[in-house]
Amino acid sequence: MKHKNKLLILYIVSVCFLLCGCDKQQEETFFSMDTVMNIKIYGKENIMPEINELITKFDRLFDRNKNDSDISRLNHGIKSEVNSHTADMISTALSVSRLSGGAFDITIAPVMDSWGFYDKQFRVPSKSEIIEAKKAVDYKKVSVNGNIVYTGNALIDAGGIAKGYLSDIIASEIRNKKIKSAVMSLGGNIYCVGKRPDGQNWKIGIKDPQNPDSSIGYVNVYDTAVVTSGTYERSFTENGIFYHHIINPHTGFPADSGLSSVTVICKSGARADALSTAFFVLGRDESMKIKEEDVEIIFITDNNEIYATENVTLHTDKKVNILLNDK
Ligand code: ADP
Ligand code: MG
Repeated sequence: MKHKNKLLILYIVSVCFLLCGCDKQQEETFFSMDTVMNIKIYGKENIMPEINELITKFDRLFDRNKNDSDISRLNHGIKSEVNSHTADMISTALSVSRLSGGAFDITIAPVMDSWGFYDKQFRVPSKSEIIEAKKAVDYKKVSVNGNIVYTGNALIDAGGIAKGYLSDIIASEIRNKKIKSAVMSLGGNIYCVGKRPDGQNWKIGIKDPQNPDSSIGYVNVYDTAVVTSGTYERSFTENGIFYHHIINPHTGFPADSGLSSVTVICKSGARADALSTAFFVLGRDESMKIKEEDVEIIFITDNNEIYATENVTLHTDKKVNILLNDK
């Protein structure tokens, strides 16, 4: 009898171990695409080495600074055959450009360069320099045909979409491995796979743009991207004036639409990334005119007002102004 009991206990312990012990939390931090990437996976198999490879591969494809990257080859000619993912990323960028009337423009590179955001030697360019740089910005010059991308001499900067695109790639790798629960932050681009291991939604903090180390509250989400574009990510001050890295392609100056951050919640990390940049440039009212149904937005204005589309449940002790979907 005693022996039987012992076996039973052993059996229960083993079952518990199988049930609870299998999905262990794995966490790793990578530095790539000029930013910190943190990935947490709850699963049996350690797939961090594969993810590391993916990150390295995509950094090599999308980095304009690397001589043999797809973007660098495109920037040194008028057309090039590229990896199918590069073609797909550029197609997605172009669709957001069309939707936003060019508020998002992947050919923004010459203007970024004139402000020193490329070599990190920040400076305020002269008006004539901006006018000259702006002339070269035109997403309409770019087209994609299969894996061939035509640039018509435009210079591509994928900084406004690359991390979001990579988050989709990593998420699909995680799903392919049948892992049900994971969350990643690629330099502030959040992507959640499934729900938390305890079956609850993920709580994703929304940074306070005035104080990015703290948050204004959180959203409760699952299986989605949550991407924020904020002035605080990259900026400099000269003669008391604040300049940041989200450029209005129509003016060549840092976007000045009364916002200090825009968060986009939708299923595609790439779209969320490009849209957050586009909405930041457009401002609240213009963004609401083009917002698609599957996209939710949180706007934080320069004077700290919070606006959220009606399907967002933002947990915060601050006042939230609701934006209705009917345009
Ligand atoms: P972050 O890269 O800090 O997460 P964003 O997603 O808003 O922020 O992207 C800003 C980056 O996108 C810039 O650093 C630059 O590379 C690029 N960029 C800036 N303005 C635009 C724009 N209007 N359209 C497309 N890309 C842009
Ligand atoms: Mg973006």
